[in-house]
Amino acid sequence: MMLTGGTAVGLIPFVIVRFARGDWQVGILDIILVVIFTSLFLTVRLTHKTFLAGTVLAIAALFGNVISSHLKGPDQIYWLYPTMVITFYILPARVAIALNTLAVLLVIPAYVGKIDSVTATSILITFILTNIFAYVFSSQMNKQQNMLRALSTRDSLTGVGNRRAMIEELIRQKNGRGKTRSGTACLILMDLDHFKDINDQYGHLTGDDILKQFTQILKQMSGHKGRVFRYGGEEFVVVLECDQVEDCWQLAEKIRTHTELNRFVKDIRLTVSLGIAEIDASEDLDSWLNRADKALYKAKNSGRNQTRLSSTNTHETQGATKEFASEAAGSQPATEECNELVPD
Ligand code: GH3
Ligand code: MG
Ligand code: MG
Repeated sequence: MMLTGGTAVGLIPFVIVRFARGDWQVGILDIILVVIFTSLFLTVRLTHKTFLAGTVLAIAALFGNVISSHLKGPDQIYWLYPTMVITFYILPARVAIALNTLAVLLVIPAYVGKIDSVTATSILITFILTNIFAYVFSSQMNKQQNMLRALSTRDSLTGVGNRRAMIEELIRQKNGRGKTRSGTACLILMDLDHFKDINDQYGHLTGDDILKQFTQILKQMSGHKGRVFRYGGEEFVVVLECDQVEDCWQLAEKIRTHTELNRFVKDIRLTVSLGIAEIDASEDLDSWLNRADKALYKAKNSGRNQTRLSSTNTHETQGATKEFASEAAGSQPATEECNELVPD
C-alpha cells in the first residue's frame, strides 16, 4: 500500500509539469501510471492481498520506465535504478532478475546513437551492480525473515510448532471448513501425568529428554493428517483432519496406550491424559480450545491416563453432554449421549 500510494502521489507533480511544458505523450503515460497505482492501492486496501498487486506494480513501474525512455530519451534512465531495486523488494529474486533484464534489453534501443560508448558502458555496469546488490540484500532479508519466522513459530526443545503456530493452524482449519475440505477436524489437547514427579526424581534434563521422546511418538502416531504442537510445558496439541470424530478418538487412544506401554529414557514409564474437541463452525477459537481443555480436565479428574471427548457447543447448550471415556487400551467410543463419564 505504501509503495502504490506513495508512487501514485509522487507522480502527480510530474503529470502537472509534463502538461505545463506541453509534453503530452509522457504526461499521458504518467496519468496511466497514476491510475494503475491508485487502483492497486485500493485493491490492497479492500482485499488485503498483496502478491498480485505487487507483481502488477513492479511490471507497471519497470515498463512505464522503458516507455518513457523511448518517449523522452536518455535522461529518464535514472528512474530505472530505484525501480529495479523495488522489483527485488516486491518479487521473488529470480522473477526480479528476469524482469529487470528484460527491461534493460527493451530500453537499449532508446539509447542507441544518443549516448557515447563510455556512458553506455557506465550505465550497463551500474545496472549490473545495482542488480547484484539488490539481489544480495533481498536474499539476506528473505533468509532472516525465514529464520525469524521459524524462531517465532517453532518450539526450541522439541522442534514442533509452538502455541503461535497452533493458533495459525486452528485459524486455517476454521477458515477452510465448509469450503473445499470435507470431513472434520479435531483438536486433541494432552498433558503428561505427574510430570513434576519425574523432574523431581530424575532431574530436569531427563524431563527434557522425555518431552523430546514424547514428541516423536506424537509425530509417528499422527501421520500426515495430524499436526503436532507444543502447547506449553508438558502439554501438547494434535490437530487432526479426519472423516469423523471417531478417527480422532482412535488416534488419541493410540497415543495414550503407546505412551503407557513405552519405556522412556532410564526405563521411565509415563501416562498421558487427553481431551478432544471437534471443530464447530459456530464457535470461536477460544471456545474450541476451552472445550478441549474442559475434556482434558475431566480426564485428569477421573483418574488420569484417560481420553475424554467434549461435546460441540450446540450439544452443550442443549444441556446434553456427549462424551466418550476409556480406561482400557483399544477401547471404542460410546455412541449414546450421556451426562456421566462412562468407561467402556
Ligand atoms: P498433572 O498430572 O496434574 O498434569 O501433574 P503434573 O506434575 O504433570 O503437572 P504440574 O502442572 O504440577 O507440573 C508440570 C511440570 O512440568 C512442572 C514443570 O517443571 C514441568 N515442565 C514444564 N516445562 C518443562 C520443560 O520444558 N522441561 C522439563 N523438564 N519440565 C518441564
Ligand atoms: Mg500441565
Ligand atoms: Mg501434567
